[in-house]
Amino acid sequence: MNHNGWNRTLVGFIKSRRMLKTYPRPSRFDYNLIVIGGGSAGLVSSYIAAAVKAKVALIERHKMGGDCLNTGCVPSKALIRSAKMLAYARRAKAFGFRKTEIDFKFAEVMERIQRVIKKVEPHDSIERYSSLGVECITGDASIRSPYEVEVNGKLITSRAMIIATGARPMVPPLPGLDQCDYLTSDTVWDLRERPERMVILGGGPIGCELAQSFQRLGVAVTLIQRGPRILPREDEDVAELVSSRFRAEGMQLLTRHAATSIDNSDDLKQVVCESNGKQVKIAFDQILIALGRKANVQGFGLEELQVNIAQRGTLVADPFLRTNFPNIYVCGDVTGPYQFTHTAAHQAWYAAVNALFSPLKKFKVDYSVIPWATYTDPEVARVGLNELEAKEQNIAYELTTYGIDDLDRAIADEEDHGLVKVLTVPGRDKILGVTIVGSHAGDLIAEFVTAMKYGLGLNKILGTIHIYPTLAEANKYVAGNWKKAHKPEALLRWVERFHRWRLGG
Ligand SMILES: Cc1cc2nc3c(=O)[nH]c(=O)nc-3n(C[C@H](O)[C@H](O)[C@H](O)COP(=O)(O)OP(=O)(O)OC[C@H]3O[C@@H](n4cnc5c(N)ncnc54)[C@H](O)[C@@H]3O)c2cc1C
Repeated sequence: MNHNGWNRTLVGFIKSRRMLKTYPRPSRFDYNLIVIGGGSAGLVSSYIAAAVKAKVALIERHKMGGDCLNTGCVPSKALIRSAKMLAYARRAKAFGFRKTEIDFKFAEVMERIQRVIKKVEPHDSIERYSSLGVECITGDASIRSPYEVEVNGKLITSRAMIIATGARPMVPPLPGLDQCDYLTSDTVWDLRERPERMVILGGGPIGCELAQSFQRLGVAVTLIQRGPRILPREDEDVAELVSSRFRAEGMQLLTRHAATSIDNSDDLKQVVCESNGKQVKIAFDQILIALGRKANVQGFGLEELQVNIAQRGTLVADPFLRTNFPNIYVCGDVTGPYQFTHTAAHQAWYAAVNALFSPLKKFKVDYSVIPWATYTDPEVARVGLNELEAKEQNIAYELTTYGIDDLDRAIADEEDHGLVKVLTVPGRDKILGVTIVGSHAGDLIAEFVTAMKYGLGLNKILGTIHIYPTLAEANKYVAGNWKKAHKPEALLRWVERFHRWRLGG
């Protein structure tokens, strides 16, 4: 940190101490830690607090498990799985079958998702967390002071708190949208009747996963993206592999289309878009808004307390995940910068440990190796930098690729498509980042996550035995491609002379 950085931190620290002092500190606290929000971030925070024997209360106003269990990861992955079964059935010939017909009811597929949620639910339940030593409170929490939270009309006190209130779908102020019963990732799971035509606004991971699934389930999906391509955080060639599959499966993909309003006239619902200076109208029965997520920061006392909120609407946190109040910590979607279950859980450890042990011991959150996956087919998984970011940040890199169309197991599985892209420090095997596109990319990336976390280079991956035939061999083969490009030419010339000499004569 530079001089200015330190100054700002010091000033912030003094200010926050002063702010805290303006509130009377109870002589005794009910809890060591109060956690607000029982999603991924809140569950893990309270679990860690209970594991280190702190007295901890977890307050959840709706459903334990939050978005991930109820409206996010779990239902979306269940939907993707059912849709994939259909996609396989449609490719039956490729597997040597003449014909496969699947008879299904949309409603039953959507019901299965609820069964999956029910099956996972005990992992996040009040019963489980109570048995782990967490005091679970069902109710709407309101922060009354840095030490006090009101819930169900009762004031409870704590030495520290963690805000883990998550995020919700961002809904744009599109004229006409509120008259058309739009869907979001919160409500789409209630669909039981299959729409004929569905428009999905937003080509990020959530929009893409849902668009492909519904298209596969027989809905005519139009995916609308304002920018030039879907999955804008990923490299262009990576996004193109996904786009071309979407188109091949019959989805209408409209990039460079900006939705401007919804036309509900004449019993026909249409989204009005602007594209290249022209007006385009797309009819739909259902419209799903997948335009990002907004942090839940309003209506529970943060504004009154003047907890700092960033311009993008998330709670500001320092590297220790503290807000501008030294005893109020934050983790998960409500602060970002990543909005994944695994990053929420990662942050939760830091927030809980720092909240309970600071100033005796505190840790800066480590964002150095963050992986994620988008569960489209093909899947896209990433850790570290991609080409786009390396160029933006002016970081020199060397690119090595391996085409999964060449991989024995992928060929046997009829999944011989996609690629592995590895960015390394020029002339060295140190990994800067990896993107994998293909079947089970989200699982395959794990080897590179470990490698990056523990500083293992491509030589180490190449020197590791990978079981034959597996998709994971792709990781070894990309390392092999890197090695081929860096073979010791001078040594090999010398060895060639040595072998010639040994031939005699
Ligand atoms: C469709 C979809 C698919 C996704 N797929 C994946 C995926 O495959 N992998 C992945 O890693 N991530 C995925 N995510 C993202 C993931 O769900 C979130 O990153 C994660 O749930 C964030 O957890 P959280 O604890 O921060 O917030 P949340 O899960 O939103 O939990 C916050 C909780 O706080 C409660 N709350 C809010 N205010 C109060 C209050 N005042 N009092 C009491 N309780 C309150 C809410 O009711 C909620 O339960 C997906 C998200 C969506 C929408």
